[in-house]
Amino acid sequence: MLIKTLGIGAAYCLEAYQYCCNLLDDTILLDCPPQAMLSLKAANFDVNKLKAILITHFDPDHSLGFPTLIPAWKEGEKKLPVIGPVGTEEFFSSMCRLVGKEKKLSRVEFVEVEPGSTALLPEAKTEITALKMRHQPESMGYILRNDEGKRLGFTGDTAWCPGLEQMLNLADVTLCEMTFLGKGTEKHLGLESDLPKMLSIMAQDQSLIITHLEDSREKYLKILKDMKIPFGNVIVAREGDEYHF
Ligand SMILES: [Zn+2]
Repeated sequence: MLIKTLGIGAAYCLEAYQYCCNLLDDTILLDCPPQAMLSLKAANFDVNKLKAILITHFDPDHSLGFPTLIPAWKEGEKKLPVIGPVGTEEFFSSMCRLVGKEKKLSRVEFVEVEPGSTALLPEAKTEITALKMRHQPESMGYILRNDEGKRLGFTGDTAWCPGLEQMLNLADVTLCEMTFLGKGTEKHLGLESDLPKMLSIMAQDQSLIITHLEDSREKYLKILKDMKIPFGNVIVAREGDEYHF
């Protein structure tokens, strides 16, 4: 399992980070922020190699890159699955129509999932299970299981919720949108208040990658150091880094 970190910033990040975006196994794009196309280009990745796009929710820092990404796709026999919560097709189709890119929607197959439902992606050799998250009404997190049985959890924005607990129980690695440094809120996680709860659920061989930062990465690292968290299985993502599991 290979996670390439293209961006680590939250919507209103104080640092000049790209919006949060990740590429799994050079096949699945995790969310589609405004700079998605540029981030993939900067990583020397051909968008035509994508096997799927996974959407957690419709906030602009997670979705607005879609109309600038799809014109780059070549016409082909296989449609590209865009997997997301109920309402994904309407939301992304409307966005493309508004900016005159609706023709390329013929290349896309929208797959809408509900909490607990599973989508199979044979092309990407991955099975995706959706879990309800606590952020926007549509917010979803996912567990992506590859053909070797490894499981990646991806939260999207969320506050503490049962779906997150379930993810932490099941995933080998959780890519977690930990927006705040201090306390979590009704809609977001906070490092100081939520990380100890997360680690109390996780086993020694499970890992956590923290991303979607609202402040500098160095401040997150300092808090981790002060909290005396074992660094072995807690990583604060850095833009451009790759993580193998
Ligand atoms: Zn966000």
